[in-house]
Amino acid sequence: MSKPHISQEVLVDRGLINKYNRAAPRYTSYPTAPYFKEELVDREIYKNEVQRIAKVDPKRPLSLYVHIPFCQQECYYCGCMRMITKDRERAGVYLESLYQEIDILGELFGRNKPVVQLHFGGGTPTYLNNQQLQQLLDKIGENFLLLDDDSGDYSIEVDPREVSDGKLALLRKLGFNRISFGIQDINPKVQEAVNRVQPLEMDIRVVKEAREVGFKSVNIDLIYGLPHQTATSFANTLKTVLAELDPDRLAIFNFAHLPELLKNQRKIAADHLPPPDEKLQILEESIQILEERGYVYIGMDHFGKPQDELTIAQKEGKLHRNFQGYTTHAECDLVGMGVSSISQIGDMYAQNLKKVHNYQDEVKTGVLPVFRGLIMSADDRIRHTVIMKLMCDFRLDFAAIESQFSLVFEEYFADALKQLPPMEADGLLTVKDRIIQVSPAGKVLIRNICTAFDWYLQQSQNSNRFSQAI
Ligand code: SF4
Repeated sequence: MSKPHISQEVLVDRGLINKYNRAAPRYTSYPTAPYFKEELVDREIYKNEVQRIAKVDPKRPLSLYVHIPFCQQECYYCGCMRMITKDRERAGVYLESLYQEIDILGELFGRNKPVVQLHFGGGTPTYLNNQQLQQLLDKIGENFLLLDDDSGDYSIEVDPREVSDGKLALLRKLGFNRISFGIQDINPKVQEAVNRVQPLEMDIRVVKEAREVGFKSVNIDLIYGLPHQTATSFANTLKTVLAELDPDRLAIFNFAHLPELLKNQRKIAADHLPPPDEKLQILEESIQILEERGYVYIGMDHFGKPQDELTIAQKEGKLHRNFQGYTTHAECDLVGMGVSSISQIGDMYAQNLKKVHNYQDEVKTGVLPVFRGLIMSADDRIRHTVIMKLMCDFRLDFAAIESQFSLVFEEYFADALKQLPPMEADGLLTVKDRIIQVSPAGKVLIRNICTAFDWYLQQSQNSNRFSQAI
């Protein structure tokens, strides 16, 4: 076994990863989505919560998420909610429903809350043609208070294979200022094995164009653990991406092969996947390369340049986490639009129907397509705060939680604290002066550390529905 890579920010210790790397949630919410239930939230409860928040905080800013589920072609590794179709007419039909949902939501929320964050995800948002994108933004603008001074955090996920002439310039004109490109791996053999062939020249062209038309920030997504990847080949991908695309942010996701759950992943042969130790080497070398190039580990697969807003927020303890991942926006309500999207409003989580035809049928009747969710209890709120603090700051001050929630930390979390000494002995964290400090080796296992504070997981002891951390 090679010596662990030691760095200031994050350390990949293969022994510890092998010991602690169990399935754990990604904690984009707490409680996590598997605990959302049909009987806990319906469209009436959704409306009541929006109205309750409007009374206590009428100008509370909004973060909007819009889900465009369509893709032209299936990537075999994909775990997203998407619909593969070459029939572009289907997007038009879907948009009619989406417009209807936006009208319903606009009326419910009122047009007086600033939209500080907007994110288009998928699927492939750029599956829509230019006219459809324009109309969609117009529809959102009619119903919500979009910021027109470029001060919002307006981002879109873009597939370089779906960027026709003028699309990036249009997106910038429509107000998007951050862009995220899915690249995954530049190696042709890997690309063929996952059915996503995307020449590097194409990536270079679209990233260059994004900068020329004025996008403020470019994020690149890569995936490790894909078929035929080796530590050497992935290091080449990463170095090339850094040299040629110079991203402001970079996400390096771990591929979880779950063929029993995801039919498309059955097209990936298990014996073509890199063995676990090779995967750890890929992670270790990737972190090393990124640190050498001056990138900072933000948390959970994400890296940023030192001047990036997320990097700065992380350093200043102002980072937050929601369904859109890490964010600098704290006190806003997240409104999900489109099939399967999730909202977080006040104390409520609510999810839309997960199948396109069900979603469309429901919206057609003039009602919100919400089908399940959860209202956070007092205990959920406390644990939510603790887990998000650990996920974002890698540090937890007992006194801060006590003053926020009027409790005695050691009493309230007696069971959770009992689980920490073995982790402390192994060097994942320290507990000193009533502060939990996650060590560089603990950072890559942060979701495993957080499970100690997850009441639901502790009760069920069934974490199989989540992917492994590494
Ligand atoms: S383009 Fe993205 S959402 Fe669509 S199949 Fe590929 S990975 Fe999944």
